[in-house]
Amino acid sequence: MGPILSSLVELQAVETELRRKQQRLKQTQQVLVKQQQQITQLQEALKAKHEEIKLVRMQHDKLELELKVREEDISKYRVALNTARTNKDYSAILTQINTRKADKSKLEDQIISLLNQIETDQGVCGEIEADIEVQTQKLQEINQNVSSKQQKFQEEIDKLSKQQAAAASQVPDKERSLFSRLAERYEGEVLAEVTKEGKRKNEHSCGGCYMQITLESVNALMTKDEVVICPNCGRILVLDKNPKQEATA
Ligand SMILES: [Zn+2]
Repeated sequence: MGPILSSLVELQAVETELRRKQQRLKQTQQVLVKQQQQITQLQEALKAKHEEIKLVRMQHDKLELELKVREEDISKYRVALNTARTNKDYSAILTQINTRKADKSKLEDQIISLLNQIETDQGVCGEIEADIEVQTQKLQEINQNVSSKQQKFQEEIDKLSKQQAAAASQVPDKERSLFSRLAERYEGEVLAEVTKEGKRKNEHSCGGCYMQITLESVNALMTKDEVVICPNCGRILVLDKNPKQEATA
């Protein structure tokens, strides 16, 4: 491999490593964001549950008032019962009392059911609060862990950025600008290794898009030190993307 292609291979190696580290850095931040989101969701769920309890409590208070009214009515009717003059009056008042009693019993059932609901909801709130505490503690742990990781990745990225600049300076201008254009288009995967197809000899394909590469292109790569691009995807073709293996071979 001639100096131009070698310099591109070198640049690709640094580019790949740099993007990998940048990705790792991003991932560590995402873990933190995700954990924060989880806590926010729990806090929102807790708030909604509190609202729900508030509404049930209001309903409960309303029924308590209604119950009180029924009880007062019953007391009044009881007094009236003692002063009833006729049997007809007496039984009419008794009917009123019995109606109120039936209402009262219905209200009492509803009140009990609402109190049970409040108790259940408060239990749920307690569980959510406990979960928030656990997740907040976890967030703090992640935060500590992440900041040391981020520092490490950032140092590596800084180092690789310097290496990238050094590797890029070895590439001729024309090839370098082609490389950066393609790096943007293919997320840093600029070079594609030509791979030999299994079935027939002399059939080659682009490692980036898997389209067939002519033997002429392969021969050019083997004999000349110039850029050959894949006619389909436009990536720069090379026979070997790993310079270290080549160096030791
Ligand atoms: Zn291709």
